[in-house]
Amino acid sequence: MPQRYVYDFDEPSTGGRELLGGKGIGLAEMTQIGVPVPAGFTITTDACRAYMSNGKTLPDGVEEEIEWHLGALEKKTGKRFGDMNDPLLVSVRSGAAVSMPGMMDSILNLGLNDEAVVGLARATGNERFANDSYRRLIQMYGEVVDGIDGHRFEQALTDLKKSRGALQDVDLSAHDLAGLIDTYRAVFLEETDRDFPQDPREQLTRAVGAVFDSWDSPRAQVYRRTYDIPDELGTAVNVVQMVFGNKGDESGTGVAFTRDPSTGEPGLYGEFLANAQGEDVVSGIRTPEPLANMQQKLPAAFQQLVDTMRRLEENYRDMQDIEFTVEDNELYLLQTRSAKRTAAAAVKAAVDMVEEGLISHEDAVARIDPAQLDQLLHPMIDPTAEWEVATKGLNASPGAACGAIVLDADTAEQRGKAGESVILVSWETTPDDIHGLIKAAGILTAHGGMTSHAAVVARGMGKPCVAGCEGLSIDIDARTITVGDRTLSEGDLLTIDGGTGAVIVGEVPLVAPEVNDDLETILRWGDEHRTLKVRANADTPEDAAKAREFGAQGIGLCRTEHMFMAEERLPVVREMILADSEEGRRDALDKLLPMQQGDFEAIFEAMAGLPVTIRLLDPPLHEFLPPPEQAPDERTRRRIRQLQESNPMLGTRGCRLGLQWPEIYEMQVRAIIRAARAVDERTDEAPLVEIMHPLVGLAEELRRLRELTVRVAEEEAPEVEYLCGTMIELPRACIRADEIAEQADFFSFGTNDLTQTTLGFSRDDAEGKFLTHYLEDGVLDKNPFETLDVDGVGDLMRIAVDRGRSTKPELKLGICGEHGGDPKSVTFCHELGLDYVSCSPYRVPLARLAAAQAALAASGAVAYAAAGG
Ligand code: ADP
Ligand code: MG
Ligand code: MG
Repeated sequence: MPQRYVYDFDEPSTGGRELLGGKGIGLAEMTQIGVPVPAGFTITTDACRAYMSNGKTLPDGVEEEIEWHLGALEKKTGKRFGDMNDPLLVSVRSGAAVSMPGMMDSILNLGLNDEAVVGLARATGNERFANDSYRRLIQMYGEVVDGIDGHRFEQALTDLKKSRGALQDVDLSAHDLAGLIDTYRAVFLEETDRDFPQDPREQLTRAVGAVFDSWDSPRAQVYRRTYDIPDELGTAVNVVQMVFGNKGDESGTGVAFTRDPSTGEPGLYGEFLANAQGEDVVSGIRTPEPLANMQQKLPAAFQQLVDTMRRLEENYRDMQDIEFTVEDNELYLLQTRSAKRTAAAAVKAAVDMVEEGLISHEDAVARIDPAQLDQLLHPMIDPTAEWEVATKGLNASPGAACGAIVLDADTAEQRGKAGESVILVSWETTPDDIHGLIKAAGILTAHGGMTSHAAVVARGMGKPCVAGCEGLSIDIDARTITVGDRTLSEGDLLTIDGGTGAVIVGEVPLVAPEVNDDLETILRWGDEHRTLKVRANADTPEDAAKAREFGAQGIGLCRTEHMFMAEERLPVVREMILADSEEGRRDALDKLLPMQQGDFEAIFEAMAGLPVTIRLLDPPLHEFLPPPEQAPDERTRRRIRQLQESNPMLGTRGCRLGLQWPEIYEMQVRAIIRAARAVDERTDEAPLVEIMHPLVGLAEELRRLRELTVRVAEEEAPEVEYLCGTMIELPRACIRADEIAEQADFFSFGTNDLTQTTLGFSRDDAEGKFLTHYLEDGVLDKNPFETLDVDGVGDLMRIAVDRGRSTKPELKLGICGEHGGDPKSVTFCHELGLDYVSCSPYRVPLARLAAAQAALAASGAVAYAAAGG
């Protein structure tokens, strides 16, 4: 049998969405369940692909097939296409498998010409309507098929309205519109050197070709690249009998949602325009009315709409977004699709639908996009507000903040303490600024990337941060800043959105985050299926408490360096680093010991009964020192220079520090064990302590450090139980994981460093620089620092898991890089068989959901999960 390229809406096909496109499948399904839809047929995406590879000509047989289906359409409607007395009119509409709003074109009222328009006027007794339809055809056809600039037509319409004193196009008479048709035809002739085609079949063939061509338009290509849509999909074309919303006051057109897309509240939500055709609603030519007004104007059609929307929700078991037209009080549906919605609406609608018996718990869990939850867990800019972006930087830490500009940490602290909301604006931040960062509502820096001090600290604190903002400059003497082309003074209001990187002058209203009951409910349903545990990265008791509130099952990464950076400790830390002898270092460390012990006690208490993984000191020591030019004396300056490295990321850091200056790690282990014993004595729930050594690449490194750990723990309190393990963040550690596992009770994948060292990308030198070009040019699909590079880094992880468990089947495995909070990466960790993921407290709900979806998808309980699909 030769290949088929055309299907009527009322005949079953097996190709589904891929073959018929989203619009086509919706029209076919609605027709087949008895929802009122005008008759028509779909020319498949196969035809589009054949057209493309055929040098933009329709493959053999397609035109005959179209002719045959047109014949069937004529029989159904009792009208003939090309008839000059009472013609059948059709629309030609694009529709790809993946929705690409506004990217491709449609043409309405095809089949009219100079003669048929007179016939239509006679047959309907409505000359105004006939002329209105014809002028629309000439414009749409001219734009879509012949590429005429739409402004030429719009200008002519505006001029006509002005000369007639008409406010709206509905105020124009049949006679006015006849004049407009003449003007449009003149425009058409002038632009194309041809008359508007009078042969309806030529109109149809060329319209179909133009829709196929629009798949390859530059804007459609850019859109596909942005949203990762494959070029090979192609679009289908739908040929649909016209129904007329522009016949008079008993007619109209509109769009509607089955629930409110911003809140999820049940009830119809949408817009309506009387005496209009579909494109008027979106084009903004007239201002539509709220859908509720339709109830008075067209009560019968409104009731039909309410009933139909309920049926559609029952059929699709999801919130729908529809297009409809009313012709002489008769309702027709022209499109249905699952509605785009905010995270809040998605969550509410899913819980409601479970209560209404439309979907199961599992469906509800599978349906929420975890990445979208981020919206719910940080303050964000009120979506209904209007604002203008002054400049943009890197979206370093999500959430929005609004406050007075302050230019140094002391001022931030002072004004913040007084209760004022302040945005700390600075070239970059250092550990010395921490007191200001704590009090700031948001942070904006001109320099620095996604791992800059400001970015890392802000993410840890769950504060908005825009970093690396090239459009920002600061004049510290004048106490002014310039963003884009605006100059502002300290104290002026500024708004930043760390989720998008936007910097906005002035105040923009924000909406507060909430883990509301509905989200809680969905997460609980998900937890019933989830096998992967979720922990949090938390360095302070406050973060630990927040993480627990969000459902964290422990701490997967407690960094100790931030404790060193606290204001009153930094001088002691510096004393330790600058000491010339082991003895001097030990003196300073003795002072730090009780402070660290206090930190750990507070965190253990917040996490009573749950595991806490503490990572021993990791960053290169120079990070604790001021820049050389700020050194107080010559000796300090010399020491700072000594410690300077040309590539600190690969320098004296991690366990290399612990091996070179063992007294530092000894002090930390001592503090951990003492804290564990103290908390154990004070409370009845013992902490589950896990001591973690960073940046291990050689089994011998870990062997020595384990020895140190065991020795100190024995000295302190032999009765305290703890685990001793390592980060896996170097390729060599993955490859030699069997050997390393002999020394380790657990592995925690540090995928930030593992990504840097596997790809040989230093993050700060990659993001905003060559990596941006890689992503734009498609050398890489995804930023590997955001979504795990499953093929490379992921493969190394798989090797490490296999080899590690071959030595120690009970080896505990987790991940504590930022990927632990990325939904796609969480799915991968589930598949890899890790025990837990650990992420920032604010991402815990998102990781819980993604892990539940991974478990559901793997068990086959649901066909589709947002994170995996
Ligand atoms: P888009 O994807 O831009 O919405 P559509 O193909 O859905 O394009 O059509 C544009 C507008 O024209 C929509 O409002 C639609 O409802 C309306 N429309 C399309 N086909 C018909 C038809 N056969 N009868 C009446 N209105 C139609
Ligand atoms: Mg549409
Ligand atoms: Mg690391």
